[in-house]
Amino acid sequence: MKFVIVGGSIAAYTAYKTLKNIDSSFDIKVISKERFKPYSKMLLPYLIGSDELSKGLFYEVESEDIILNDKAVKIDTDSKTVKTNRGLSINYDKLFIATGAEADMPQYNGDYSDASVAVVRNIEDVEKIKRQTASCKGKNAVMVGAGLVTLEVGWALVKAGFSVIYIVRSNRILSQILDMESSEMVQKYIERNFPVKFIKESDVEFIEEKDNGVCVRLTTKKEINGCVIVVGKGVKPNVDFLEGSSIKTLNGGMDVNGYMQTNNKDAYAAGDAAAFEDVADNSKKVHPIWPVAVEQAKSAAKNMAGIKTYHMPEFSRNALPVFGITIFTGGISNKNQFDVYKASLTNEYRKIILKNGVLKGFVLIGDIGNFGAYTHIAKRKIKVGDKINKLLYGSLNINRL
Ligand SMILES: Cc1cc2nc3c(=O)[nH]c(=O)nc-3n(C[C@H](O)[C@H](O)[C@H](O)COP(=O)(O)OP(=O)(O)OC[C@H]3O[C@@H](n4cnc5c(N)ncnc54)[C@H](O)[C@@H]3O)c2cc1C
Repeated sequence: MKFVIVGGSIAAYTAYKTLKNIDSSFDIKVISKERFKPYSKMLLPYLIGSDELSKGLFYEVESEDIILNDKAVKIDTDSKTVKTNRGLSINYDKLFIATGAEADMPQYNGDYSDASVAVVRNIEDVEKIKRQTASCKGKNAVMVGAGLVTLEVGWALVKAGFSVIYIVRSNRILSQILDMESSEMVQKYIERNFPVKFIKESDVEFIEEKDNGVCVRLTTKKEINGCVIVVGKGVKPNVDFLEGSSIKTLNGGMDVNGYMQTNNKDAYAAGDAAAFEDVADNSKKVHPIWPVAVEQAKSAAKNMAGIKTYHMPEFSRNALPVFGITIFTGGISNKNQFDVYKASLTNEYRKIILKNGVLKGFVLIGDIGNFGAYTHIAKRKIKVGDKINKLLYGSLNINRL
């Protein structure tokens, strides 16, 4: 049996490792467009403040099992072949696609070079930010967007001695996961305690390079100077190379069933490039977080090896430990719909959303308690209408539900 894995990060590595654990003699080829062996994208923000790449960043794949610096450009599911940019044609019995996502980079008006404007998705992006900021310690860094990644990057830059200014188009920070009340609480806490400022309801109009740095003119005509601009405007699954293949996409990602199988029986997918069922709204969507990529890749690898493994529908969630505060959200968390219950203290906030007694969403800020329990009960649709106080104030024991 020959396995081909396309991708160079956690889902690709997890599938490789799982297959090797099942049978170390399996013939596996990993194709990655990266220069490096698989590494953790989640650790990238931490590298900004450190001079050396941290230990634990890379994952070991035998050199003879991996092709680096080459990318899959075409999949032919009839001949079961992957074609690469460098002209290789590799046959498979089972294919695993873990091509993840790329950061969106809007084209801004202005007069600037690529070097001054970065996203954070791979090691080269971090190297760019480090080069740009190396000569201007103590100045501003400008973040466009105040989402999960830009908050992590801003926190890393604050720890490295920078002041950070966020330009936020929406009326609140973390608008994808927080409601107005919790967003304002987090914003006030950060601005009070750190050299950080959020400029909301504003966007970039023009960028120019100036005085060894960059100057951003906002739609409000205000000008901000900084060393570097880091843009966090969302991500897009890497599925373009599937054009012309029989593998179908849905809502941006590869459409996979409960066995992580695409519509083609020999092609599997997982992680940031796969659209998988979600229990909160019964839709299929991409769940772009680390633990989901790991668990989905394990299930996919087992199924590819013939060990039938059903993967439970996901419940979207996010964990964000930044600026000394921890935020954990799940499901419908940025809206107030169905039955909403809230509790708040200084720098602490809990909100749960129930529909017919089933947990559809939550926000936990500060002491996030036994946060795994919230995902556990939401995924399994366990009725918790009689446990509202425990969900809001106490800690849950999932064995007693
Ligand atoms: C800066 C940052 C911080 C994050 N922080 C958190 C966090 O705190 N918590 C959390 O849960 N999640 C976090 N995430 C999200 C998490 O890292 C992703 O969910 C996870 O990396 C998804 O893994 P993946 O293997 O599916 O895809 P990716 O990590 O996107 O990897 C895809 C890989 O495939 C390669 N590739 C793409 N196309 C091709 C091709 N055609 N041929 C060959 N190779 C290809 C890419 O180069 C890449 O190496 C963060 C992500 C980033 C970028």
